[in-house]
Amino acid sequence: MPELPEVETVCRQLEPELEGRRIESLEVADPRWCRPMTAAKLERALAGRTIEGLARRGKYLLLGLDGEQTLVMHLRMTGNLVLVEGEDKPLSYLRARFVLDDGRELWFTDPRRFGEALLLGDAELDAHFAPRLGVEPLSEDFTAEALGVMAAGRTAPLKSFLLDQKGVAGIGNIYADEALFRAHLHPLSPAGSMKPEHLGDLREAIVAALEAGIDGGGASIDDYRDGRGEKGRMQDEFLVHTREGEPCPRCEGTIERIVVSGRSTYFCPDCQVKLRRRPRRRRPVRRSP
Ligand SMILES: [Zn+2]
Repeated sequence: MPELPEVETVCRQLEPELEGRRIESLEVADPRWCRPMTAAKLERALAGRTIEGLARRGKYLLLGLDGEQTLVMHLRMTGNLVLVEGEDKPLSYLRARFVLDDGRELWFTDPRRFGEALLLGDAELDAHFAPRLGVEPLSEDFTAEALGVMAAGRTAPLKSFLLDQKGVAGIGNIYADEALFRAHLHPLSPAGSMKPEHLGDLREAIVAALEAGIDGGGASIDDYRDGRGEKGRMQDEFLVHTREGEPCPRCEGTIERIVVSGRSTYFCPDCQVKLRRRPRRRRPVRRSP
């Protein structure tokens, strides 16, 4: 599933190509892509519109349009947004196709059909994302203190804590594993057990893991392709993710796989510290006799 680095890669590649282009037409091949809006209504709404930019929020792509509207797209499990030129159209599973004024086409492909699109007014964006997404980890707002506020009192394992988009936005299964390894923290440690030094380490580790993913052009374990239809390289550079049974890149340990929140989780049991749950303050424990 594409995470922040994959979506950011697509965004950085396509933004300069799309900015200022006019959408001649949109063809929605799969009405499920934009429901509850009908395909015909979205096609009418986007025809003739000028693209003002492409941005990212969490794992969402935001196609800014003239007239103060934004098409919010999510790639979900297997979606790809790819700029297609000339006769070269190798991608299948087409769900929507934008024909641009320079003859090129923007394709949203998606074998498993979980990806989606939603047309919103620019003024509605903040209210739309507020209940869904927390802090952007590559922004100045992402500090150790902010992470501490989020984690305080949380008994959920760190892995689950990082997957929650309402805390830190954009992290998924890959980069949660990579960040926890970089921070020397065991994925089953309770989030609320982190001390100030752990918070600082984890903040730095999250940023480093995400930036490595962006530098690697994203990870193509399954269906992910970048904005040009090419595979990413990050899957060859994982420190622990998918590396079960391989030697730890940092110590003499061996990478193990466990399941946390239903997700495969990879870590080194020898150099990732399992923090103890901190005792709760001022709350008497009643035991039944
Ligand atoms: Zn290790």
